[in-house]
Amino acid sequence: MSAPGDLGWVAYPPEGWEEISVMDERNTPMRTYQVCNVMEAYQNNWLRTSWIPRDGAHRIYIEIKFTLRDCNSLPGVPGTCKETFNIYYYESNNNNLWYIKESQYIKIDTIAADESFTQVDVGDRVMKLNTEVRDIGSLTKKGFYLAFQDVGACIALVSVRVYYKKCPLTIRNLAEFPDRVTEGDSSLVEVRGSCVNNSEEYDVPKMHCSADGGWLVPIGRCVCKPGYEEKRDACQPCRPGFYKASSMDAYCMKCPPHSYSHQESSSQCTCEKSYFRAETDPRAMPCTRPPTAPENPISTTNETSITLEWSPPRDSGGRNDIMYNIRCKRCVGDPRKCSLCGNGLHFIPHQFGLTYTKVLVTNLLPHTNYTFDLEALNGVSELSPSPKQYVSINVTTSQAAEAAVNVMLKERKSKDSITLAWQGPDHANGVIVEYEVIYYEKNQKDQNYTVLKTKSNSMTVDGLKPGTIYVFRVRAHTSGGHGTYGGEIELETSQEDMLAIGDPNQPTIMAVSVAGGIVLLIFLVTCFVVSGRHCGYIKAKQDPDEEKMQFHHGQVRLPGSRTYVHPHTYEDPNQAVRDFAKEIDASCIRIERVIGAGEFGEVCSGRLKLPGKREIYVAIKSLKAGYSEKQRRDFLSEASIMGQFDNPNIIRLEGVVTKCKPVMIITEYMENGSLDSFLRKRDGQFTVIQLVGMLRGIASGMKYLSDMNYIHRDLAARNILVNSNFVCKVSDFGLSRVLEDDPEAAYTTRGGKIPIRWTAPEAIAYRKFTSASDVWSYGIVMWEVMSYGERPYWEMSNQDVIKAIDEGYRLPAPMDCPAVLHQLMLDCWQKARGDRPKFGQIVNILDKLIRNPSCLKTLANDAACRSGNSLQDPCTPDSSAITTVDEWLDGIKMGQYKENFASAGYATLDTVVYINSSDLCRIGVTLVGHQKRILWSIQNLHTMASQMHGTHIQV
Ligand code: AMP
Repeated sequence: MSAPGDLGWVAYPPEGWEEISVMDERNTPMRTYQVCNVMEAYQNNWLRTSWIPRDGAHRIYIEIKFTLRDCNSLPGVPGTCKETFNIYYYESNNNNLWYIKESQYIKIDTIAADESFTQVDVGDRVMKLNTEVRDIGSLTKKGFYLAFQDVGACIALVSVRVYYKKCPLTIRNLAEFPDRVTEGDSSLVEVRGSCVNNSEEYDVPKMHCSADGGWLVPIGRCVCKPGYEEKRDACQPCRPGFYKASSMDAYCMKCPPHSYSHQESSSQCTCEKSYFRAETDPRAMPCTRPPTAPENPISTTNETSITLEWSPPRDSGGRNDIMYNIRCKRCVGDPRKCSLCGNGLHFIPHQFGLTYTKVLVTNLLPHTNYTFDLEALNGVSELSPSPKQYVSINVTTSQAAEAAVNVMLKERKSKDSITLAWQGPDHANGVIVEYEVIYYEKNQKDQNYTVLKTKSNSMTVDGLKPGTIYVFRVRAHTSGGHGTYGGEIELETSQEDMLAIGDPNQPTIMAVSVAGGIVLLIFLVTCFVVSGRHCGYIKAKQDPDEEKMQFHHGQVRLPGSRTYVHPHTYEDPNQAVRDFAKEIDASCIRIERVIGAGEFGEVCSGRLKLPGKREIYVAIKSLKAGYSEKQRRDFLSEASIMGQFDNPNIIRLEGVVTKCKPVMIITEYMENGSLDSFLRKRDGQFTVIQLVGMLRGIASGMKYLSDMNYIHRDLAARNILVNSNFVCKVSDFGLSRVLEDDPEAAYTTRGGKIPIRWTAPEAIAYRKFTSASDVWSYGIVMWEVMSYGERPYWEMSNQDVIKAIDEGYRLPAPMDCPAVLHQLMLDCWQKARGDRPKFGQIVNILDKLIRNPSCLKTLANDAACRSGNSLQDPCTPDSSAITTVDEWLDGIKMGQYKENFASAGYATLDTVVYINSSDLCRIGVTLVGHQKRILWSIQNLHTMASQMHGTHIQV
């Protein structure tokens, strides 16, 4: 407030303060109030300002400039002379007080002159001023008066400045903060900002107005809306040809290839004609188009099964998520009169959404022409209105050799009836319509035989002669025709009526002889007959808990499900080999090179050419010379186990050579060797879908094994083999060697070797090996696959692993691992084995993920960051404040590559998002570990940006 004229302040008493005009040192006239009644005692002179409005301020500052005479410098003044004066205030809503009532006034302070007492030399008009500032807080009324009390000093009040402080209008983080008057006390006042034009709140923008008028502690921010970018505290539109898809992106980016934007402020670029963008494609990805048709289809017919193979399309459309669908037509006579094949066919692994270029089709009708249309699809195929391109292949099936039905005795009720039961053929040529039972009295075949028909898997044959031997055979009648008769079974009716077999006190019914039957079934009969006494076979490996009952209330297991037979159940293990493995003539095998070393000798690759069959590549395991009989048995046990399996995800046994030396086991050849080393060699090179495809294969193989009641006990990536199409197959089925041979297996305190890191806690603690413990190992295999062959639990000791698992620790998600997959691993690692999923459920889950790849987008490490799960891997460094490439590299401790990035032209974060490992090699990041760390972090930058929430990261 400046009042060069009459101020009109009230002075009391009249002989006290006086308003005087003087000249300042620059000869400018100015008003002062003076008092100098130093010669008289008991002075009490008041000077009161006019009413000062508070103006919303809570704290008021008063700056006083004054001169004050030193009493000593005044000649002859009495001791009552003072060198101070007092300052008061009085709050009031009225501005028309004309008197001073002393008692109403509150004292602010007593004011003394500073260090120098002013000598006023009026002649030279030199004045030295004291300046004092006082403040009063917590004012509430509309205004106030100030008052100066002189008690006998010689004072000239030269200036009184009354003011308050405010934080001025400002823009911070794209939010505008208005003028704000400070608070009376020293606290910070939170002020909410409002987003500038074309921006939106990312996180509520706030700042704090301090008592002395400064803005402090900005929190939150606004971000430019899609189509706008930040420039000089404002949001400017993107230029044509540029776009900004998300408010999380910092800058407008050039439209990616095959897209354009004609308008300003575009939030996305439109794809050129015939190009598309899938919903989950990042906006920065070029537009892509559907692939051309698959090429070079070939088929291999095996009776009523067909293997179709093809090459990938010439043009992938710019994407790497190619899948294949197969459509089947059945053509009778005129190729134009084809009908769809219907549901009866079985496609292995699937009919639709195939990721590999090969499929096996079974259950075809014999002597039928089929046309298969193979089409390739990618993530944008569904968006294109043009018809999908496909290639067709015509195939004709041949006659199928219907598998035989083998009969077995179930029970005999009386002296004139026998009840038979059988399993359906393993490979029926279609739906089984009925079974035919043929029987005759032994040695009377030529005279009389009877044929009976039934739709069921058992039959009671009545009207038989007591004490007579009958011969029975059964065949299946399918939609594809009649199968062959299975082996004969000879059964003798009793002389007297009997109770059901199985009662150990009853005389045993003998299966007198079996011609050409499958030993498995006869074995079951024998076993059933003698159950309750001594079964004659040893359950050396399989756990009794896990055995599915082969006989359930006296019934045979349902047809179609088979049970694994342990080779030790044979008193003569060579018989098991003969039953389950085909003897191959050594002259059909050509050994080419050594590819590995097994426990019993070398593993070689080579070729097998069986008469009338196509030459195939095989792996040949040979038993080294000088073996003991036990070693030979153990070596061949792998073949008698493997030979019982027939599944695309289980390593296939071609046969054995036992009749000459060296003894050999011949299996299909898996070009890419074992999965762990394969993944380590190809670190980071597969899409998540490809990895899930591999996991699906392994789970499917394990489902097959668990359905057969086979417990693997050593499931690990090193025991999975990979072929040239990246199909994974479970291997390693030896007996003693299963664990003895495994370099990972360690002796436990209870004896026995166990691969600790892969094994469920109950199997380590008390050798409780079950399919559920295989599921635990499968979870570890998932982790190995998703981490590209990383060693589970890294360098932790086995003891530490056991302890950590017991305390509830579980492996964290590997980098880039989708959250759903890590969750599945955690489910496999449930402490209670009953809580773990079954392999069938795992296969279903993985199938769903393959069908809906968007479920794989959320990465476990992001989820962990958000949930703050302490068991997870440490999260990536907080990137919330990262805006430059240098800050980012420092943040992930890769600062040593700043120059490499800068000189390669990666100046801004948006340019690094699509870097891949070969780019990193090119710019000089050659260490794989460093590449991994950088690519991992890029992936995080990318997903965070595309999720449009959770951080300010600008890419
Ligand atoms: P194994 O004795 O089964 O553990 O085999 C020893 C090594 O030989 C494996 O680690 C593989 O590298 C290789 N091998 C075994 N079987 C095959 C196969 N069928 N195809 C390719 N390589 C194999």
